Amino acid sequence: MLKKRYLKDLQKIVGEENIYDDKAHSLAYSYDATREHYEPDAVIFPRSEDDVSQILKYCNKHKIIITPRGAGSGFTGGALPKNGGIILAFEKHMNKILEIDLENMLAIVEPGVVNMDLQKAVEAKGLFYPPDPASEQYSTIGGNVSENAGGMRAAKYGITKDFVMALRAVRANGDIIRAGKKTIKDVAGYNIAGILTASEGTLAVITQITLKLLPKPKFASSYMAVFKSVDDAMNAVFKSLASGANPVAMEFLDSLSVAAVKKKLGISLPENAGALLIGDVDGNVKEEIEFQLGTLKSSFKENGCVDFEVAKEKEQREKLWYARRNVSQCVTVYGSKKLNEDISVPRSKLPVALKEIYKIGEKYGFSVPCFGHAGDGNIHVNVMVDGSNEEELHKGHQAIEEIFELVVDMGGTLSGEHGIGLSKAPFMDIAFSKEERQLFLDIKKAFDPNNILNPGKMGL
Ligand SMILES: Cc1cc2nc3c(=O)[nH]c(=O)nc-3n(C[C@H](O)[C@H](O)[C@H](O)COP(=O)(O)OP(=O)(O)OC[C@H]3O[C@@H](n4cnc5c(N)ncnc54)[C@H](O)[C@@H]3O)c2cc1C
Repeated sequence: MLKKRYLKDLQKIVGEENIYDDKAHSLAYSYDATREHYEPDAVIFPRSEDDVSQILKYCNKHKIIITPRGAGSGFTGGALPKNGGIILAFEKHMNKILEIDLENMLAIVEPGVVNMDLQKAVEAKGLFYPPDPASEQYSTIGGNVSENAGGMRAAKYGITKDFVMALRAVRANGDIIRAGKKTIKDVAGYNIAGILTASEGTLAVITQITLKLLPKPKFASSYMAVFKSVDDAMNAVFKSLASGANPVAMEFLDSLSVAAVKKKLGISLPENAGALLIGDVDGNVKEEIEFQLGTLKSSFKENGCVDFEVAKEKEQREKLWYARRNVSQCVTVYGSKKLNEDISVPRSKLPVALKEIYKIGEKYGFSVPCFGHAGDGNIHVNVMVDGSNEEELHKGHQAIEEIFELVVDMGGTLSGEHGIGLSKAPFMDIAFSKEERQLFLDIKKAFDPNNILNPGKMGL
């Protein structure tokens, strides 16, 4: 419960209609995609950067905890108010595309803009914003920047950080800061926008984002390649990319994932597929499409590909993508609870990483269907357990810990896109040294000395 005095003072800043401390709002803002839940004491819908600044100044003075929130689609609990306090939600007012600058090819947006709304708005003007997390229909640009979200087009175009040119943000004490510029080049001062990207709401509240845009490619096609084994497919991934292929996406499903999709959705997929690679190529001339498909096909064939299918029309392309788009919900055929990690390794390590991950699954007796963004070296590893069995859950977490140790030993990391939040905080010591973690704490202290911004996340 927020003290009545605090509620009254905050109402004076944002108006009574923009602050709620009733049960319905507390419940509605207590969840994210982890399905854990923690209720906030109040939910505030700031109308402007100035509101955010005044709210933070007040909360900093009274040491009231603030958790910024986009759409609450995070997979690691970043937007969950674990320690109570206030949720700052941007979907009601701070949700506008402020500018699409055609001459400089950039967009300026407020944090509550939904990713897909931005994509559509810029495409209507012939431009292109590539980062497209599978949550694009509802996740917000503020959340995407704070988690450094990836998507299906990262193999060619990169991830959110590659498009953030500048940010405006509010520090815990209410100070408004500008980080980065509208310029392509900017080497003056520390890269504060870089530090705030992926900071999961622990350092500052992002109030405005300037994003780079590209020209929209004119042509695109999709492909599906069938491999006898995961090992063949993983070798094909890094060897084809190293040999000059530049696909938009190179997504992977292993045989367990393929079987799960067949079972749950009843669709036909290639028989005896040990693994599938599915993706897109694009370009401004048709010859570029043919060149990319030819390069992929020949490189895949050299690496054990037994079938290579191409789709050029929209309907056919969607058919090829259907299994990949729906696999996440299908793997529950192997267990009621999915311990879903999104490990990332250098691409050349994919074959050995997958081999060792399956061995860990066998050792503990769990199915571990794997799928994901192989072209980025980022794989969704799903340890499937019976969620109602405490002993299995405990063993599942032990398996996850071993998997993390394995990928970090290979030069990889705990998360390629979902972030650390609450779920992965216990594993930070595996990925970072004592000295590195101290540096994180020092940075946190410089931005937020009273630790009011999203405490407990990222192990901070
Ligand atoms: C079905 C599904 C598919 C998904 N697919 C992908 C995918 O392909 N790629 C991917 O990367 N992720 C994916 N995700 C995860 C999630 O959608 C992303 O992490 C997304 O970026 C979160 O955005 P959000 O608006 O929901 O943020 P939230 O979950 O609300 O918040 C995420 C974090 O950002 C912080 N935050 C939010 N707004 C601000 C702000 N203005 N200032 C400071 N901090 C802020 C929060 O405090 C929190 O720590 C998926 C999730 C689901 C449910």
